[in-house]
Amino acid sequence: MVNMMTFNKEEAFSLLKSLVAVRSYPGEEEAAQQVCAIWMNENGMRTRLVTAKNGQPNVIAEIDNGPGPALLLNGHMDTVLAAEGWKCDPWQGMREGDLFYALGAADMKCGVVANMLVARELARNKHLWKGTLIFSSVTDEEALSMGAHALMDSGLRADACIVTEPFWDGAVIGAPGKILIQVDVTGKAAHGFLPWEGINAGIEAARFAAQVCSAVPEVKHPLVPSSQTLLSIHAGSPQYVITLPEKASVLLTRQIVPGETRDDVLSKLRAFADSLQSPATFEFGVRDPFYTPWSFDQPDHVFTRAFSSAYQRVRGRAPEIRHWVGITDANVINGESGIPCIVFGPRGGNFHQCQEWVDLVSIPVVCDVVAETATAFLQG
Ligand SMILES: [Zn+2]
Repeated sequence: MVNMMTFNKEEAFSLLKSLVAVRSYPGEEEAAQQVCAIWMNENGMRTRLVTAKNGQPNVIAEIDNGPGPALLLNGHMDTVLAAEGWKCDPWQGMREGDLFYALGAADMKCGVVANMLVARELARNKHLWKGTLIFSSVTDEEALSMGAHALMDSGLRADACIVTEPFWDGAVIGAPGKILIQVDVTGKAAHGFLPWEGINAGIEAARFAAQVCSAVPEVKHPLVPSSQTLLSIHAGSPQYVITLPEKASVLLTRQIVPGETRDDVLSKLRAFADSLQSPATFEFGVRDPFYTPWSFDQPDHVFTRAFSSAYQRVRGRAPEIRHWVGITDANVINGESGIPCIVFGPRGGNFHQCQEWVDLVSIPVVCDVVAETATAFLQG
């Protein structure tokens, strides 16, 4: 089959420049999403907007090509906040040869651009495939993934998904989830000179905090990495008073692996708190964001095979397929909705720092791999 789809680095660059020029912190993605939607519409793809809980729109385009499987190409439009120390305006960016420095250039407006270009080429070359290609540019990935949740809650059906986050050397097929646990410790106030009359919530919280990570170790999974740590511990009043702290709180973050649930974690923590035989009371709550772990470890799945052979053909070597430590919208799309997911995208660096960069050469290469995966998978 002759591949009629071609992808151009300079077109990808100008599209990327138009997206990075519009600030899109979580909760303020709308203007950048409009730039994306207008381009999609101008290129013959009808878009619809699905508003997430943060009031910001996801851009969705469904390209229908008769009966057959459905493939979702997903990316996020939001960026992290600009760090200190940028050598250029983070929204104008700076190009040096084929490297483009800008906020969100790598994470992940380049991946959104790749999906836009692939969607256009598939829309123009419907004789190469069957089924439905779904494009989505979502919001809020860097915060609570409200965009991905809205996408899944909209009733969208897909048989597989490529998330074009900047993982260049291969593909990510799984990651831990995470749970943020707040422990509220209640003791009993008393005069600080008469501590035996009260229960010091600070001391009781500290006993718990000092031992919890070793007493309730993270679950080790053969493929999915995991860790946990204490993020904060607070007790007493910020103002100086000679009073025994009545309240204390501990914040723990823990990565969870496939098979592990939030109830498993909470019941282990409660059992450990009980074992301390503390006179204080311990209450456990889960704070947002909660992410489900995910793993799409199916080398013989038609989607994995389509991706691997496309990657092999385009790049001349087999992809390195692995699990990774980081959270992405695949935690929602696969972890919660069960859709087979592969994370693969352009080459970049300095994520979540100043001088974030993307290698422009890698964008059309990603387009080639994604387009070829799509045409191989979308064969009904
Ligand atoms: Zn990202």
